Amino acid sequence: MLVFSRKELYKRKDVQKLLNALKEGKINRITPKFILEEGLRYLDAEEITNLFKENVKTVLEELVEDGILVKELLETRLACPKCGSLKASLKLVCPACNSPSIKKGEAVEHVACGHVDFETVFKTPEGGMICLKCNSPISRDEDYRRLGFLYKCLVCGEFSKTPRRILTCGECESEYNEDNGIPFEVYGYSVNESRKEIIEVESLDLSPVIKNLRTSFWEAETSVILKGKSGLEHPFTLMSYRPGSKNTEETNIMVDVVFEKNGVDEVSVISFFSKILDFNVKHAVLVGVPSVSEEAKRLGESYRISVLECSKMEEVVETLWNTIKPIVEEEASKTFMEVAGILETSQALKNLLKEEPQDIAKP
Ligand SMILES: [Zn+2]
Ligand SMILES: [Zn+2]
Ligand SMILES: [Zn+2]
Repeated sequence: MLVFSRKELYKRKDVQKLLNALKEGKINRITPKFILEEGLRYLDAEEITNLFKENVKTVLEELVEDGILVKELLETRLACPKCGSLKASLKLVCPACNSPSIKKGEAVEHVACGHVDFETVFKTPEGGMICLKCNSPISRDEDYRRLGFLYKCLVCGEFSKTPRRILTCGECESEYNEDNGIPFEVYGYSVNESRKEIIEVESLDLSPVIKNLRTSFWEAETSVILKGKSGLEHPFTLMSYRPGSKNTEETNIMVDVVFEKNGVDEVSVISFFSKILDFNVKHAVLVGVPSVSEEAKRLGESYRISVLECSKMEEVVETLWNTIKPIVEEEASKTFMEVAGILETSQALKNLLKEEPQDIAKP
């Protein structure tokens, strides 16, 4: 049994939007994009929540902590050890002397003397080849060996296949490498299938009901924890009351919205009943989603609890309001009668005052 709790986290509009998008399957997997100027961005989630960058990540992490989302490691990037930025440019340096002055080219080796240089250096203007170290002309294919593309250091002359790699931070210009860079784990987020029903429950937005109640001058609040007569505290999905006036007692409505995958049964009704017993509740409403057993409905009737059945969460607002509306209207008409009563009394008083002088004037 899941009673709609609406923690602070789920009350937030941005979180609501995200939960709804996940519920409706608008997004299934939230993965980041790497944007050079801005780093990692969860753009889909940003668009849905209207949150920016780090804020969206915070929300995603909070939902992971709450078990609604699960995260998986997608990749590890290297961040600047000084400023944490992911913006970097790769610089290649000579492995022998660390000079960045290196050049890539197709290298060949003169087999006879072992001299290595770029093929272009061996070439003569006439189209032949000559070794600049031993000055021997190279005429046969077997006189030289192709070494493929290599980097040549223009300072110390070293040839290397794998020059050293240094990252230059695009933010603070610090230089770092694989050894001293900070590993930055990149995560993707998806719905925790085993807790999908929580999304179903927590994506409920009762604000239209609250708004209607407040328009009718009722106080209303969702996910409240109230102290009962026993001193114990009980949570309710919705609590609303019409502030009392002189002639009427304060009247209230207590609501719980309960989601039970296999149908809401008597247990939920009994548990709700035990809570309302601890208060002076005038109207108790229990909304069951996605179905309510006949026993539960009968039990609700005998406990004077309005048990409502909604096949899905989206129906709760309308069904609930349709039940509450007559109560609110009845109270409103009472108020009207009261006001009318006051007016009547004051009119009678006025008449009395008007008549009084005449009475005095009478002989
Ligand atoms: Zn040579
Ligand atoms: Zn060098
Ligand atoms: Zn930096």
